[in-house]
This record gives sequence, C-alpha cells and structure tokens, in this order.
Amino acid sequence: MSHGFTGSELDTQFRINYYLEPFVHPITKKLTILDKPYPTPLKPEQVKPFRTLGNHFNVSVNFSLTESDALKFLNEVEPIYRNMCTMHETAGWEFAIDMSEENSLKAEKAKSQTIPIASAQWKQQAVFPWETYKNQTIRRIFKKLGESAHSSALPVKTQQELDSIIEKMGELFSSATVCPYNKKDGCDLGLMTDIVPILGKARDYEEGKYYWTAWHDAVKGVGEYYPRYVEIVNERARLNGFKNAMDDNLSLYETNFLHLKVHELLGRIYPLYEQLHAYARRKLREFYRDHQDEISEDGPIPIHVTGDMYAQRWHEIYDILVPYPELPNIDVSDEMQNLGYTPRKMYEDAEEFFQSIGFPPLRKEFWELSIFEKVPGKIMNCHPSAREFCDRKSFRILMCTQVTMFDYAIIHHEVGHIYHFSQYSDRHVMLLEGANQGFDEAIGDTIAFSVKSPKHLMKKGLLKNFTDDEPNRVKNLMQHALTFVMDIPWMIALEQWRWDVWSGQVEPRDYNCHWWKLRQHFQGVKPSSSRKTSDFDPASKHHIANNVQYINYFIARILTFQFHEALCITAKQYDPEDPLKPLYNCDIYGSKEAGKQFSDMLRIGSSVPWQDALEIVTGTRNLDPEPLLNYYKPFLTETEALTFLQDIDHESRELSFKKSSASWEQDLDMASEEKAKLNSELIGKRIAYNKELWKRAAIYPWETFRNRTIRRVFKSLLGGGNDALPDKTQQELNEIGGRMSKIYSTATVCPYNKDGVKPNEEECTLTQSDVESKLAEAEDYKEAKYYWKVWHDAVKDIGKDYPRFVEILNEAAILNDYPDAQEYYMAQYETDFLNLRAHEIMGRVYPLYEQLHAYARRKLRTHYKDHEGDISEDGPIPIHVFKNLYAQKWLRIYDILVPYPELPKIDIGAEMERQGYTPKKMFEDADDFYQSIGFEKLRKEFWETSVIERDPEKQMACHATAWDMSDRKSFRIRMCTKVEMSDYITIFHELGHVHYYMQYANRHTQLAEGANPGFHEAIGDTIAFSINSVSYLQKMGLLSKEYKNVGKHAINQLLLHSLSFFVDTPWVLSLEQWRWDVLAGKIKPKDYNCHWWKLRHHFQGVTPSTSRKPSDFDPASKYHIPNDAQYINYFVAKILTFQFHEALCIAAKQYDPDDPSKPLHDCSIYGSKEAGKQFADMLRIGSSVPWQDALEIVTGVRDLNAEPILNYYKPLYDWLVKENAKYNETVGWQNLHPDVDYPFCEKED
Ligand SMILES: [Zn+2]
Ligand SMILES: [Zn+2]
Repeated sequence: MSHGFTGSELDTQFRINYYLEPFVHPITKKLTILDKPYPTPLKPEQVKPFRTLGNHFNVSVNFSLTESDALKFLNEVEPIYRNMCTMHETAGWEFAIDMSEENSLKAEKAKSQTIPIASAQWKQQAVFPWETYKNQTIRRIFKKLGESAHSSALPVKTQQELDSIIEKMGELFSSATVCPYNKKDGCDLGLMTDIVPILGKARDYEEGKYYWTAWHDAVKGVGEYYPRYVEIVNERARLNGFKNAMDDNLSLYETNFLHLKVHELLGRIYPLYEQLHAYARRKLREFYRDHQDEISEDGPIPIHVTGDMYAQRWHEIYDILVPYPELPNIDVSDEMQNLGYTPRKMYEDAEEFFQSIGFPPLRKEFWELSIFEKVPGKIMNCHPSAREFCDRKSFRILMCTQVTMFDYAIIHHEVGHIYHFSQYSDRHVMLLEGANQGFDEAIGDTIAFSVKSPKHLMKKGLLKNFTDDEPNRVKNLMQHALTFVMDIPWMIALEQWRWDVWSGQVEPRDYNCHWWKLRQHFQGVKPSSSRKTSDFDPASKHHIANNVQYINYFIARILTFQFHEALCITAKQYDPEDPLKPLYNCDIYGSKEAGKQFSDMLRIGSSVPWQDALEIVTGTRNLDPEPLLNYYKPFLTETEALTFLQDIDHESRELSFKKSSASWEQDLDMASEEKAKLNSELIGKRIAYNKELWKRAAIYPWETFRNRTIRRVFKSLLGGGNDALPDKTQQELNEIGGRMSKIYSTATVCPYNKDGVKPNEEECTLTQSDVESKLAEAEDYKEAKYYWKVWHDAVKDIGKDYPRFVEILNEAAILNDYPDAQEYYMAQYETDFLNLRAHEIMGRVYPLYEQLHAYARRKLRTHYKDHEGDISEDGPIPIHVFKNLYAQKWLRIYDILVPYPELPKIDIGAEMERQGYTPKKMFEDADDFYQSIGFEKLRKEFWETSVIERDPEKQMACHATAWDMSDRKSFRIRMCTKVEMSDYITIFHELGHVHYYMQYANRHTQLAEGANPGFHEAIGDTIAFSINSVSYLQKMGLLSKEYKNVGKHAINQLLLHSLSFFVDTPWVLSLEQWRWDVLAGKIKPKDYNCHWWKLRHHFQGVTPSTSRKPSDFDPASKYHIPNDAQYINYFVAKILTFQFHEALCIAAKQYDPDDPSKPLHDCSIYGSKEAGKQFADMLRIGSSVPWQDALEIVTGVRDLNAEPILNYYKPLYDWLVKENAKYNETVGWQNLHPDVDYPFCEKED
C-alpha cells in the first residue's frame, strides 16, 4: 500500500478544501465560511491515550502521527472501503432483481465479508490522535470510521444472538399472512401485496376492522424476541460509550436534544393536524353513519377507517374527505396514458427537470443498467430504490413502474437520490451519504413537490384548465396533506415508543399499553379492536420488526418543506406577499439559480455537520416548521373556515327562503293577521340567527386567510352592524326604529278644502302615497302648497326619537371599529372618500342641472304668474311647484316645461292600450329583450309564482318589487301592473334585479348581492334606457315608423328623460349629505332641521314651500330617514346606469361619439350578444370582488365617471344654454331672496 503524496493526495486535499472557500449566501447575502470551528480540535492531553472497541479491541494512541500521516492513511483506506461497498451493493442489486435462493446466499456472504475488514481497519485508524487535527474533514472521516466499527463492539456470541433475533423477527414479519374476510381458506394474504390495498379500498366498516385486527394478531410473535433485542442493543450502545441505544441512535444527528426538538416542531404543526383530524372525523362520521358510537364526535378515530394500517397516510380515503367533490380530481394518470407515456419517458422527464435547473444529464451507465419495469417471470423487489455502487460512476434505479401520476412523483424522488449520489461521489468514501439521514429522502421529495404542482403539470400538458381558485387550492392541498401531514404525529409516536423502550422507561409487560397511549396522545387514533397486554402491536410496522430508523422520515419531511420554500424564493416562484404565487403551486423548473443552490448543498455529502449543509439552501441552521405551515396556509383553518361557510350558506339560505316566503305571503294578503304574525316571527328568528352567526364567524382569524373571497365573506358576515350592540341597546334601537317607521307609515292628513271648511275627522286618512297623488293632480297652487305643508307637519314627531337613534347607531359603529356611523355605512363601498367623490361628480353635472333649473324656474314663473313673489327670478324654487314632495322628479310638470308643445306628444301608453297590451304581454316583451342579448329565458317557476296584477279580492302591497327567495331557483316579481309606459319601464327595471339574482345564484349567500349597493338599481335601468330608443319602440310597433328622434323631437324626448332620470341627482346627494353630517356628529339636534334646508337650498336650489321652524323635523318627510334606508345607492346607481349604457352601446356598435347618426340617447342594445355577454360577466360576479373590478368588466374603467351623463344629454344641454341665454335667465341661485336667508334657522316660537 505505498502511495506517495502524489496526484491522489492533492486530489483529496482539494476535495477537503473545496468547501472551505467563503461564499456569499444566496438568501442571507451574508459572507459565509463553512468551516466553522465545530467541533473544535482537542488538545493532545484531552484525548484518551487508549481506545477500546467493545471488550476485545484495545490500542494505544500514537501522538506522533501528524495530520499528513493521517491524510496519507485515509487515501490508502479509501479504495478498500470503496471495494467493500461495491461488492456489497452489487450483491444486493443482484438479489433485488432476481430474488432467488442463490442470490440471497451471495448477498449474505458479501455482507459477512465486510465485518472483519471493518474491525481490522479499526485497529489501524484508532492509533491516530485525530481529535487534535485542525482539518475538520479529516476529523469527520476518522469519526465515521470509528462509528462504522461500532457494530463490531459486541462479543462474537452476543453479536450472533442479535443477528439471529433480528433475522427471526424479520422472518416473522415477512411471512405473516391472514385469511380473507369471512373465509377460512386462501389464508395467504400478505401485508404489502394484499392487505394494504384491501384496507385502502374497504368501505365496509367491519371488513376494515377485520383486516386491521387480523394483521396485528398475525405478528404478535415478534413480541417474544423484543425484550432480549432491547437488552443487546443497549449493551452494544454502552460498549460504544453511550448511555443506551437511544443515545447511540440520536448521536448520528449531531444535534443536542433532538428527541425534545422533534416535539417542539410537532407542537407547531399540531394546529394544522388537529384541523385536518377534526375535518376528517366529521366526514368519516357522516360516511359511517351506523358506527357513530365508534367514531365519536370528539374522541380518537379507530385506525382502520383511515384506510391505512397505521393511520399513516390517509390518501386512500380521499374520496370520503374530498372537498368540492363536483370538481375534477387533480390526478393526471389518465392524461399520461393518453399521451402515450412509457416508464422510460417518465424517467426522461425527470432527467429533463434536473437538467432544466442546471444539473448534467444522467450517465449512459444509468440508462443501460437501471431496471424500470418488472421483468416477467422473475421475483423482484419492487419497492422502488435508488442505488449507488461506490465506484464514482454506477448509479441505478430499480422500480416496477406503472404509468400513473403517483409513480411519476416517485420517479422524481428516486432520480433525486441518483443526482444526490453523483453530486457527492467525489468525496472520501466515508462521506458518501446525506448531510444527515433525513437529507437523503428530502432531496427527491423537494423536486417532487414542484413536479406535482398544478403549474408544472400544466407546463407538461398533463393538466388542462386548472384555475388557481379557492376550491381548487383547497382540493389540491387536501390531497397533498393526506400524504405529507397526516403521518407526522405517527412518525413521532413510533420513534418515541422505541426511545422509551430503549431508555428503559417502559417494562416489557407495558410495551403494548405504552404503544397505544402514545398513539392516542399523538395521533388521536385508537385501535380498531380491543388489545391486550400480551399483544405486541408495534410489530405490525416493518421498521420495528426489522430494526430500521424512523425519525429520519420526520426530519426529511421538515427539510423537504424548508428546501422547497427556499428554492421557490430563489426561483422567484413563491412570494409570501403575493397571493398569486402560493407555495403549493410553485415550480422551480428552469431555475438555474435554485438548481445551483441545491447542488452546492448536495455536493457536500456528509463532509460537514448537516446544519452547514442546510444553511446553504435555506439560510438557517435549524429545522423549521414554518415552511410547512406556509405551504398549507391557504388552507390551514381556511379549510375549516370553508366548511363553516358552506354550512352557513346552506342554513342561511334555508332560513331566508322561509322568511322570504312568509313576507311574500303577507304582502299578498296584508289583512291577514296570521300571515303577519308568521312573518314577524321569522324576522325575529333571522335576527337571532344572525347574532348567533356573528359569534360563530368571529372565532376565525379570517384577516390572515390567503383567499380573498373567503376574506370577503367573513368581512361581510362580521360587518355585524347593530348585532354588535348589547342586547338591551339593540332592543332600544329596534323599538325606536319601529316607532319612527310606524309614525311615517301611519301618518295621515286631511284633504284640502278650497273653501277653508274644516273637514271631518273621518276624512283625514290620507297617507304619504295619497298625498303624492293629490299633489300630482293639484291644479291649484295653494292646494299643492297645503299638501306639502301638512305632510311635513305630520311626521315631525319622528324628530323626538332621531337624536337617540343617531347615538345608538354611532355606538354600534364604534363597536364595529369605525369612528362613527357615517364611516361605517360608507365602508360597504370599499372606496376612500366616496362622499367627496360624489361631490366631484356632482360638480361635473351641475352645469346641466343649473341650465335645467333655470329653464324650469322661468317656465314655472310664467305658469304661476299670480304668485310672482314666491318664484323669484334668480333664487331657489319652492318645492311644491314641482308637484312632488321633494322636487325629486319633475315628470308631473312636463306639460309646463315641454320645449315644443306644438309637436304631437308621444304616448306609448295610449298605443299599448290601443293594441290591447296586457301586463303579461308587457312582461313577455321584457323577457324577449333580455333573451335577445343572450340572457337566460325566464323560468316556468317565475311565471307560475310571480304576481303581476292586483288581486281585487285582497289587500296587497303594490310597490313593484323583485324577489330572490334565496334557494338559488325561485325568483319572482310582485307588481300591480298598469298598462302604461312608466310601468313598462318598471318591468324592465325589476327584471334587471331578477337577472342579477339568477346570474350570481351560485355564489356564497354572503356574496350573492350587487357588487356594491348601487349596482342593483342600475342593471334594469340600463336596459330601460334602450327601450326608450326610437328604434326599439318602432321595432315593437309602439311608435310610428315616420317618427325620427332628431331635432325638436329629440329635445322634447331628452327633456322628458331628464325629468325622471337626472334632475333628482342633487336631491339624493343633499339627503345623504345631511345624514352623513348628522351621523358624524357635525350637527347638533337643535340644528337638524336648519341644516336640512341649508343643504337643500345649496345643492338642489329649492326652498321650503312654507316657513319652517327648528322644532320641525322635515327630513322625516322622506321614507329613507325614519326607515334608516341608504340613499347614496341611488346616486351611485344613476352614475353607473349611464356608464353601463354607454359602454354596452359601444360594445353593441350602436353608439359612436363621432357619428351624429348614432347618438347615445337613441341607442338600443337589443339583440347584441356581445353587449349581453359583457353585462352577464359582470353580474355573475356578485359581490365576490371589489366593485371596481366588476365595473371594469363592462366599462374598462375602475371609477365612477360623470362623462356618459353629459354625452347622453349633450343635445339638450346645448339647446338649454341657448334658450336660457335668449331670455337672459340667471343660471344658478346664488342670489338669495331677501326674505329667504334661512329664516327657518333663527326664529323659534
Ligand atoms: Zn427515497
Ligand atoms: Zn329596483
């Protein structure tokens, strides 16, 4: 053995120094020098002068041997160990591919030959004072050489006894068989070949239980040998200088307190495991309904129902646990078959993956000598394995590959081993292994994580149409977790049992009992049948009977997630801040940076402590469970949250259906007390349910959830509003609310009497809607003024309750974490400064409003010339002259305002009546319109249940409404339809609601609503804009073909349109601005009424019809104040309607800003599938995304925009400007009437 210090020495020196180079760490960016002083060299006096191996070997240390002597020695023994290894591995390979008796003997022989060599070698290496050498690698190689001799420490006889015990236990395990279920013959069912697959598929509770029990009973014989086995391994450990076999084993990990560290890690993972466990238990209880005694609500789960002998991997029961079973599974096996995949092609894919991240191709030798498929006629060890032959070039895989996705992942795992082998193959033979025993298994799994990602499978063309949305994420993660999370506590339980046994904490008679205590404690499982002290159930698992390490799988698991996360960050495929790049869907394919980092670690083999290796890839020196938790984050508690949301969707829809049905019935028969009672009972139930729901939802840390939709649902669930109040306060609020709306709905006034005679009490029964009708018909100026005044006076008592009402609303807002109720109400718009934005928009349309206002004022002044003082030339206008309580719509004075009265009036209503239109026919027209743009036909159910005409027999609510009964299929309209144009428009409006309901019916109940509260009202109005067009009316035969919507005709039409669709804009804003100011505490109760009129004056240019006092409460004159109904929605809806109309008209090619023959006001989208598609795409979303996203779908912009309004009325505006200029009319109302300088704010009598 004479080598000089030649090439080979330099070679080794180079290899040893290789990792001493400083390098910049890719993640931490810190300059790292891997040769850490760990463990530091000892001083010669610290080294014992004698070394022993067992009781039979003994040498003195020769302190004159230097580090170069040691290097020389290591280079000499290298080939010897390599040959030994090659011999051993070759024999093992031969046996594995052909498990004949002859090959078995050869393998035994090869193994037995290596033991004497190892002990002989020990004597040579033990003389070196290696602990004192500076070079860490040299010290490591000596240490490992010493450890490799450990197995020779026992006296020969004891060693033989141990060998024979291990052999017997192994034989008992591998030869154990059971009978088939319910049969007495064919009792040769083996574990891997028969029992495991049967148990996985078993869905008969008793059958599974039988196989579980039979297998455990079949191996109990192992228990006879185990106590002696424990004695001997402990003896060997002591001979090697350890306290017991547990310490011996753990020393391999070079980590202090590893046995405690694993529990620390487990503790971090438990919240995830427990959620999965609870979810699975519920699903299993549902599945095994007849066995709910055995699968209790809150206890451990009997093992066999997990479809696994040990409740280790739960993937076999994926079909029972699967969330969203209706979605396709993410298993691409079939697609692989279709694409003609072969085993070889699968290996080529794996090679290609590694090459894509910068690894070299696999050697020719690998392709020639590996075995990918079962050779017919030979008994082979089909357990997939990757093997190295210690000759720096031979690496092979043995696997009986099936063309399935499961095997596809395994192949990447095994090829990972091959690359690992080849990366460290140049190291000293003693360093040819992973940095620790967990590393080996983690390498290939890390790659398999990328390969299994939907992203990668899509790249490969194996997966089509995968959307990374909520259901698919959860499905994917569930499938993954059943394999990669559920076995974690099991691994700890198994190894903890062995540690306790080895360290002498458990007596042999308690072995079995201790086993089940640990299993129940860690895994939350219980034996499927009752077990006895004399059973030996640990033997049911290969690794106990065959004496194989198990904790390394746990370490490997933690490492895999650590590697995956780190490499994904390097590859820029995972970003914790970016929900579109979740860890589970990261694929490092093609990232040379990630590959470089990985290969830097692999190349090191075990030449440094594993912490150093770990640091290269992850930047940390510790095992860390965080990446595992990050991986499942989209799903950790989100899974439970999702189940919860599904449950409440169901519950809540059921309850809503009952409630809607009851109010529907009551509305149709308002005289029935019984129906009223049922309705109010259900309203109470709904309130109670919501309160309960709030409590159930509040426990979820939803703000941390990854899925935006889930966050939205929770946000809306927990926007608990008044439910946040203490019960007593909430009750007070309800009482006040009830009182205010009762005053409003029961307030009555006496009819006007021209002669001033006091009417009889019994005549004084006019309600708000009667007053509106009287006002509409009032020809007499004084009569209109009278009705305006008496109505405002009739509701003033509401003002007594309003201040307290405001107080409580603010209290509720504060409980919901908003500064005040105004902020709270506005929050549902998810828009900063919406109130200011509304004023900006108002600013854009004021020029148009002011022109209309000035025009109307002149016409009214002329019309009421007898009352000249009331209607000034340049001031605000008294409200009643609009024949509307609020000067909201000016339709009733069209005859006064009409620009060209000489033109024939278009009377669609009269035409409809002439043609014999019925309400049904009107609805059919509307249905036809929606269908023409590609919307669903109204269902049979709609026609059967809707009520579209007044039932003369019953007292029914006549205000037109559209109903979503909440069961995803019942949608109705209730309306007392009259054959007239305005009801025709209303029908289109109401059907807009119905189509919105139908489009988003599949959403979660919390997201089944308009994108914001303004959207709903805009949908039907948008369609109604189209039916106002000449082309539509002519098409329907409601307008003569000669009529052209141009010139004077167009001005008349546009003015008419503006009186119902535009002039109310400032009114809406002034009402809500008043409420915002009040809720925000800017206005004290004594100034409520005064502030109201200041705003009305300022925004609307109107003035009260009679003098008002601070003690009046005129805001109460409008329904939405006493009933606390939002009003800004109408403002938003109005702006949206014009935006939608313009965008859809462009899509339908019916509006072109540059083509005067296609003006916006005469556009109809009838028949345009393109426009319809765009509209439907928006409706379908419901409120599952911020409204800006929804708006963008139709309009391409993300903000409210006034421009379409101006475009629509452009011809009218131009005409008004000229017209007002002609009469030299003051535009605006800044100059106040001398008497009207807010007198109502000062005087109080
Ligand atoms: Zn492996
Ligand atoms: Zn509506």
